[in-house]
Amino acid sequence: MVIEGLAAIREELADLYRDLHQHPELSLQETRTAALLARALRPSGYEVAEQVGGTGVVGVLRNGPGPTVMLRADFDALPVREKTGLPYASEVRATDKDGREVPVMHACGHDMHAACLIGAASLLASAKGEWSGTLLIVFQPAEELARGARDMVDDGLFSRFPKPSIVLGQHVAPLPAGFIGYGSGPLMAASDTVNVTLHGRGGHGSRPEASVDPVLMAANVVTRLQGIVAREVSPSEMAVVTVGRLSAGNKPNIIPDSAELGINIRSAAEHTRTLVMEAIERIVRAESAASAAVQEPDIAWEESAPLLVSDPDATATTLAAFTEHFGPERILPMPPVTASEDVGVFGAAIGVPTVFWFWGGIEPDVVFKALAENSIDKLPANHSPHFAPLIEPTLSTGVEALVIAALAWLDS
Ligand code: ZN
Ligand code: ZN
Repeated sequence: MVIEGLAAIREELADLYRDLHQHPELSLQETRTAALLARALRPSGYEVAEQVGGTGVVGVLRNGPGPTVMLRADFDALPVREKTGLPYASEVRATDKDGREVPVMHACGHDMHAACLIGAASLLASAKGEWSGTLLIVFQPAEELARGARDMVDDGLFSRFPKPSIVLGQHVAPLPAGFIGYGSGPLMAASDTVNVTLHGRGGHGSRPEASVDPVLMAANVVTRLQGIVAREVSPSEMAVVTVGRLSAGNKPNIIPDSAELGINIRSAAEHTRTLVMEAIERIVRAESAASAAVQEPDIAWEESAPLLVSDPDATATTLAAFTEHFGPERILPMPPVTASEDVGVFGAAIGVPTVFWFWGGIEPDVVFKALAENSIDKLPANHSPHFAPLIEPTLSTGVEALVIAALAWLDS
């Protein structure tokens, strides 16, 4: 039984996890982490390639005839100041892509994802007699920018390495530790970001008549955008429009030249996504015209994460294996979430199914109490400075889930 090897490596994995947690790196800067993961993977006998699509790491283990199964983990961190108070909390600061010094924290649990994948890769390699096929281990950088998966595909992930027939991955979440959360079909929202610059005409704050005020223009845009979800999207469809960045001017008595907005949208269906994107452009242009802007607004859409679909048939197969291993009492159905993931880019690039699931990292009593009190939204979730998965049983459950899912798709 492959899982039996876990007891012998559990401590080593916990050390790796604490090391990763204490040394987080921002997206596109994950060089130390990548080197550490490559070093941890090699002793198990994998052919390891580094710098695939930036700092991506790929391991291949050929073990006779059979399908190629891809296991994926991301490993970038976030510009968040850690407030968990853990003995292995991060105190790291780094310079972000805009030249600002920021605190860095593994606030999304990607350190847990990476440690679990090292564990699963190692267990599967040490039990080669129990399966047949090829394992493709993929450590993906820059997930938080929704571009690492695309970068790896563009760098030849599926031409330089064996092409998988299934992509498997997981995300740690504020669910009870030791539990698996699953969804079938649309699982995580599509995410799109647009940067808007509104052009006014700057001048003295005392002479608005001689200026075109981009601040009022921006304020109207922000207010008017709220009407998209409230009045244009059907109440039965999921959509979110958030203006997360708004900046203009630097002195109270100067009307600035321009104002900038960073807008993020989430959607769970292609027609909703198109509707929201078109509505944003329409409103931005119309408010700009209504304010007598001196120039058309600049509207720049950024790289996006597509809707993540956990293939229903493939999910059913994987779930059957989970249920047998963990028992039905440790498996929880989950509704689709408004968070996003770029893992779906891999399967979509080669037309193979993706199966993605969540697993818990929070003390079960705390979660069940919060559920009973209807205060689940108050628990520290991913991206919170207080997000602190329990090392155990989270680590073991994450390793087991990857191993069980891989074995469900490899030949026995
Ligand atoms: Zn995240
Ligand atoms: Zn994440």
